Amino acid sequence: MKYVYLFGDGITEGSANQQNILGGKGANLAEMANLNIPVPPGFTIATHVCNTFLKEKKINKKIVAATNKALKIIEKKINKKLGDEKNPLLLSVRSGAKISMPGMMETVLNIGLTTKTIPALIKKTKNEKFVYDSYRRLIMMYADVVMEKAENKEEVKIREKLELIIEKKKQKQKIKNDSDLSVQDLKEIIVQFKKIIKKYLGCEFPNSCKEQLWGAIEAVFKSWNGKRAVQYRTIESIPHDWGTAVNVQAMVFGNLGHESGTGVAFTRNPSNGMNLLYGEWLENAQGEDVVAGIRTPQPINETSKTSQTKNSKTLETAFPVVYKKLLAIKKKLEKHYLDMQDIEFTIENGKLWMLQTRTGKRTGEAAIRIAIDLKHEKLITNKDIIVRISPKNLNEIMHTKVDPEKELENTPIAIGLPASPGGACGRIVFTADDAEKWHKQKKKVILVRHETSPEDVQGMHVSEGILTAKGGMTSHAALVARGWGKPCIVGCTKLNIDIKNKVLYINDKKYKQGDWLTLNSSAGMVYEQKIKLVKSNFMDNPYFIELMNITDTIKKLHVRTNADNPKDAQLSKKLGAEGIGLCRTEHMFFDKKRIRNVQKMILSDNKEDRKNAIMALLPYQKNDFYRILKTMSPLPVTIRLLDPPLHEFLPSQKNEKLIKNLALEMNVKPKMIINRIIDLFEINPMLGHRGCRLAISYPEITEMQIEAILTATMKLIKEGKDPRPEIMIPLVSGPHEFINQRNLVKKIAEKIENKNKIKINYQIGTMIELPRACLTADQIAKEADFFSFGTNDLTQTTFGFSRDDIGSFIQHYFDNNILTEDPFKTIDINGVGQLIKGAVSKGRQSKPKLKIGICGEHGGDPKSIKFCGEIGLNYVSCSPYRIPIARLSAAKNCI
Ligand code: PEP
Ligand code: MG
Repeated sequence: MKYVYLFGDGITEGSANQQNILGGKGANLAEMANLNIPVPPGFTIATHVCNTFLKEKKINKKIVAATNKALKIIEKKINKKLGDEKNPLLLSVRSGAKISMPGMMETVLNIGLTTKTIPALIKKTKNEKFVYDSYRRLIMMYADVVMEKAENKEEVKIREKLELIIEKKKQKQKIKNDSDLSVQDLKEIIVQFKKIIKKYLGCEFPNSCKEQLWGAIEAVFKSWNGKRAVQYRTIESIPHDWGTAVNVQAMVFGNLGHESGTGVAFTRNPSNGMNLLYGEWLENAQGEDVVAGIRTPQPINETSKTSQTKNSKTLETAFPVVYKKLLAIKKKLEKHYLDMQDIEFTIENGKLWMLQTRTGKRTGEAAIRIAIDLKHEKLITNKDIIVRISPKNLNEIMHTKVDPEKELENTPIAIGLPASPGGACGRIVFTADDAEKWHKQKKKVILVRHETSPEDVQGMHVSEGILTAKGGMTSHAALVARGWGKPCIVGCTKLNIDIKNKVLYINDKKYKQGDWLTLNSSAGMVYEQKIKLVKSNFMDNPYFIELMNITDTIKKLHVRTNADNPKDAQLSKKLGAEGIGLCRTEHMFFDKKRIRNVQKMILSDNKEDRKNAIMALLPYQKNDFYRILKTMSPLPVTIRLLDPPLHEFLPSQKNEKLIKNLALEMNVKPKMIINRIIDLFEINPMLGHRGCRLAISYPEITEMQIEAILTATMKLIKEGKDPRPEIMIPLVSGPHEFINQRNLVKKIAEKIENKNKIKINYQIGTMIELPRACLTADQIAKEADFFSFGTNDLTQTTFGFSRDDIGSFIQHYFDNNILTEDPFKTIDINGVGQLIKGAVSKGRQSKPKLKIGICGEHGGDPKSIKFCGEIGLNYVSCSPYRIPIARLSAAKNCI
């Protein structure tokens, strides 16, 4: 078995497709070396070694031997030796899992500095300050990662203690930047560091290079099972048994002076996708300085400038030759990886070295634009685009934002960097724990922090938005939030946070925990109080439109919408609906004026009163159907006949005022209404007198609705339109209920057709939403023109869970691992799904070309859509704003 893989000019053993073994970072370092991109040489210890180490709790001999052998090769290659008193080699040790876990894992730089090697390096570099600066960094990182975290001594918080020493020294010397510390300052700091380490961690900082190296390697392995790494993997569904690789690499130095520096960049803008290098850099600094927010990083070029960095020196002007090389590498990497990359680099005395490349995290907006642009650049195909874009990306661009008009009426109280776009509104909390606590109490929160750390991920996850005082566009908060599509503003320097007292000062004004804030994280604006949020204008985004057009060239499943009014019909057509799959006619009566007549209809205890109430509904229905059918013509419109769960329509017995008014209007005594409500009381209203059952009891309801639908259709035909009504009978349990209603529909239709001497192109089908309907689907199919699965009711009746109260106990099902997903969100494939599958097959046994769709909420859920495609449905129908996701998911089914 191979434990260690070399990389570097001419010695590389791995490649990009070995991410399982080498981790993302290791595989890409190997790949860059293969591409002749300058990478400091090193080796990667494989991920399986991590698992072995965690099991055996020590590094075994074979691994030690393989590592030492690789180290010798590197030493020979660059003619330096670890621990050498003349020409010492320094190493970096970095983690690297298969999938990048930003900030989750560990890094130790400058390994190999000891009292023996320090003088040699000073002699060689003639730069005493650089050597002591590197040494104090090694001590800090090593104490934190190896001596504290890996030893489970996190309560010591050694890093904070060491940082305080530096802070005090800077104050004493009246200097601002770490890089302004003198050699003497650094020497004194180092002495203090060692004392503090001894005092709080109980042992000496190791003065042996090998001890440093193995300590760091083991610490990286142990960090795989650290609390924050485990939490992140759980949230991101990353398997816990992958393990991390360890990358040991020759150091190159960005802190050698003014000809050196370090930076991070994206090959395209990760917020909006523009094809321009986007990033930050720091002169005379080592890698961690850029992301740690210790110094404010400078923009890499003009386009990376922000209001805060508009006067800073860019890499483009400071190092024009290096910048040009970086642009060439950008091109090479994108052409090779066929995607936007997130890169890290170091400039050592004017020479550019690449330290990392990986596929960059991006917002939904950027993901779509980058994919479409790459297609235009002929680097990827339409199919690649469909694979790359996730439903989450679409969700994100359809994100809520701050209402622009209302925003104009407010003045921002602070401005920060727009790290992850969107709009969020919530109450201030200052800790991740409070965020979780308040979230459990159903309160919306904005997490306000100096900066976030991986320990905060859980709290960040439940927050509406994240606001930090420090950090840049590549800081932890920015990366993590962007990955989740969560609104986030970083580097908001005006925030003066007093964590202890849970208060925040902005311009001397105090904000307490629980006060409201609104974030416009697309512009980096922070507002006090609540501002209205609105949906985004993604429909005008040309990249979104092109993406949607591509889905149509690939997908087979049709996508319809659930719409009950002309406005939604119009909207869904714009979003690409190929018809209406469910028009819930009872929803047309939610309007205050109309609901009265529905209530009267339900409450009437004699045919005549009922008929009067129903006939009062006719003009509304006619008009609504006319407008909906006209909007959709010639696309099909499935109109479901009345299916009102009665409790949603009746006034409560306690609502005396409403009952009094109704009694007055119906010219009866209030007591009579109350008695009728008592009569109609249903033990389980969701299983009650609804759907076709109601229409079987009161056929006049169907008569009125068919008259409304077909006279509207007739009017449109006469106007030269091509309306396609599909009449749908709800909640049948077998063929007989269907036949009863179908005959009634046909009778009315014939009457209308005969009267107008025009044939109407309509269909009569049914919803399949009861287990018995699934079991008798072959018999129903003989009579029906189409099926549409009402998976909301089918889930309810298959599980025996009520749709209305599952929320009160489903969490217990999750906690006990009985369910992993809410069956009302994603089709329960093992149970409900099997009924559906059986019904499809039975239905098509009777009628091979039977048109079958789904109109329950599952019709907009990607996993359920996959299942619908697999079992051969013709269409899914979902609410308008889920259409884009449904189109994308349907296209994904075909790849
Ligand atoms: C269903 O049951 O899945 C359905 C679409 O109907 P409703 O939600 O209106 O009961
Ligand atoms: Mg239903």
